[in-house]
Amino acid sequence: MPCINDNLNKVQQQIDEAAKSSGRATSDITLLAVSKTRSADELRLAYDCGQRHFGENYLQESLEKIDALSTLDELCWHFIGPIQSNKTRPIAESFHWVHSVDRLKIARRLSEQRPEHLPPLNICLQVNISREESKAGCLPEETAALVDEIAALPRIQLRGLMAIPKATDDPEEQRNAFHRMQQLFSDLQQKHPTLDTLSMGMSGDMAMAIAEGATIVRIGTAIFGPRDYSNKN
Ligand SMILES: *Cc1c(COP(=O)(O)O)cnc(C)c1O
Repeated sequence: MPCINDNLNKVQQQIDEAAKSSGRATSDITLLAVSKTRSADELRLAYDCGQRHFGENYLQESLEKIDALSTLDELCWHFIGPIQSNKTRPIAESFHWVHSVDRLKIARRLSEQRPEHLPPLNICLQVNISREESKAGCLPEETAALVDEIAALPRIQLRGLMAIPKATDDPEEQRNAFHRMQQLFSDLQQKHPTLDTLSMGMSGDMAMAIAEGATIVRIGTAIFGPRDYSNKN
């Protein structure tokens, strides 16, 4: 098993350095531990090191872990995977955040299905910033209208935007994609000043995402080691 404590410390150090060199406060950046394919025991190890935010992609697997860890205080669950419209109810019932909303229909269902006894569900709108055919997310030019509509839903708290830019070896292209997200985000904040979240940056590109304004970085491999999908079907 990888040394989760050391890895978490290293990642936090990278975040601190990236924040410092771009003149930002470390406390403005939340580390989301992406725990897809990881066991509840591995999450518990990370929790014991102080990690509180966990991101999951696969619904069935995540519900099992949420159940197994339900006695731990302050755990905050983020859904970051693709969403089928017939699977919104368990997401609305069990998660605190959803980063992967990319159409109005999904946002409406989440709002309708959010239980009354829970606070509004925190949402980020996913943007297909690199305009990849195969990727989820709304197109940049669709974002403003969607934000207006989603912000008006009663049981949703729209927090901001999320992106997974196209993987590239070209640092300039990579930085450009994060920069376009940052611009889109600050344009939206003019009309919607409560938007406070820009979810971008993964293990390989977190420093650049932070330099361009990320407030949540989603880190899997650098915390838990390489993923093993062999037991998934
Ligand atoms: C898996 C995943 C991550 C984490 O990727 P790493 O490269 O392992 O850090 C981040 N965001 C999303 C949406 C993911 O699916």
